[in-house]
Amino acid sequence: MSDCLIVGGGVIGMMSARSLVLAGATVTLLDQQQCAQESSWAGGGIISPLYPWKYDSLTNELSQASQAVYGQLCAQIFEDTGLDPQYLISGLLMLDEFETPKAKAWMAQHQLNYQPHQEGALFKHIAQVRNPRLLKALKADIIGKGVTIIEQTKVEQLLVNQHQSLGVKTQQKDYLSDSVVVCSGAWSSQWLALSQEVFPIKGQMIVLKSSPNVVKHIILDQGRYIIPRKDGRILVGSSMQNVGFDRSVDEQTRQSLFDFAVKRFASLAQADIEHHWAGFRPASKSAQVLLGRHADFDNVYLNTGHFRNGLNMAPECAKRITQLMTHEH
Ligand SMILES: Cc1cc2nc3c(=O)[nH]c(=O)nc-3n(C[C@H](O)[C@H](O)[C@H](O)COP(=O)(O)OP(=O)(O)OC[C@H]3O[C@@H](n4cnc5c(N)ncnc54)[C@H](O)[C@@H]3O)c2cc1C
Repeated sequence: MSDCLIVGGGVIGMMSARSLVLAGATVTLLDQQQCAQESSWAGGGIISPLYPWKYDSLTNELSQASQAVYGQLCAQIFEDTGLDPQYLISGLLMLDEFETPKAKAWMAQHQLNYQPHQEGALFKHIAQVRNPRLLKALKADIIGKGVTIIEQTKVEQLLVNQHQSLGVKTQQKDYLSDSVVVCSGAWSSQWLALSQEVFPIKGQMIVLKSSPNVVKHIILDQGRYIIPRKDGRILVGSSMQNVGFDRSVDEQTRQSLFDFAVKRFASLAQADIEHHWAGFRPASKSAQVLLGRHADFDNVYLNTGHFRNGLNMAPECAKRITQLMTHEH
């Protein structure tokens, strides 16, 4: 019997596990495959919504609170595990949208300043993490802090008694717990009925092998971005496709992402595409994160539906779900 069962081992599940175990809970985390293989791995790792004024106030609130602690959190995880999530304040150079009336009004209201740049607006404070490394470090960190991780274990349904959950049923056996936290990303609605359905929006991305400093800042233009990693690798993303759980990648998207990068940095025409992949963003029907108690069950909590912002909102979402759960028990 666990105080708390977490279903899903992406950034949301693992950050929730970290926060709950630090608050004194006994935590078991289940994943249907290995942790850290899905959206949180596939994403770009930009620690900000792309165009904040296009998002609701809750998304921005969760993101801003997370941005304030991300650097310190990564440093702590690095210290505790020896694995570096490569948190980097690389700044973001936005080439479009920043002069629209909506953007100007939002920036004035939030006292957000940018540095004028010959090609656009430089948001110097925006950071990135190397998300696959963050996940590797997080996994080691939570194991070290006492979280039990059980992989290759697919949760099929909640075990319930009226308005209480008793735990979950998996393909192998039942797991009993005082509470359940749903962190199953794009798959959340596949095993649990939710008032707002969660569904996948596929995103394709490529990574180019280049040299450090070819690209200095994250570049954002017309919803697409170029992310320079410390070692010279350059991520280019991403597509937005509502095609269910179709994981295939296509030549047309690969070429258009490559062309987008080369149009800005001609030298990248010589760069090899090392890898091309797709991931499933957890979108929700309400276009809002599902964060809080399940409407039908007293001891089931939701932390899902983060769509394009799960990496940047994760620390504050984990904190809030922990506060809610520890105040209620
Ligand atoms: C191409 C792309 C680029 C992105 N770029 C960014 C970015 O720059 N910044 C940003 O903030 N966000 C970005 N995102 C979004 C971000 O990746 C997601 O919002 C975030 O990863 C969601 O985290 P998660 O832990 O909920 O989901 P996931 O990482 O998908 O984890 C869910 C986990 O639940 C497990 N699971 C599902 N169902 C079950 C079950 N029944 N039983 C057991 N386990 C189960 C899965 O195996 C998986 O491990 C991007 C996403 C994509 C696809």
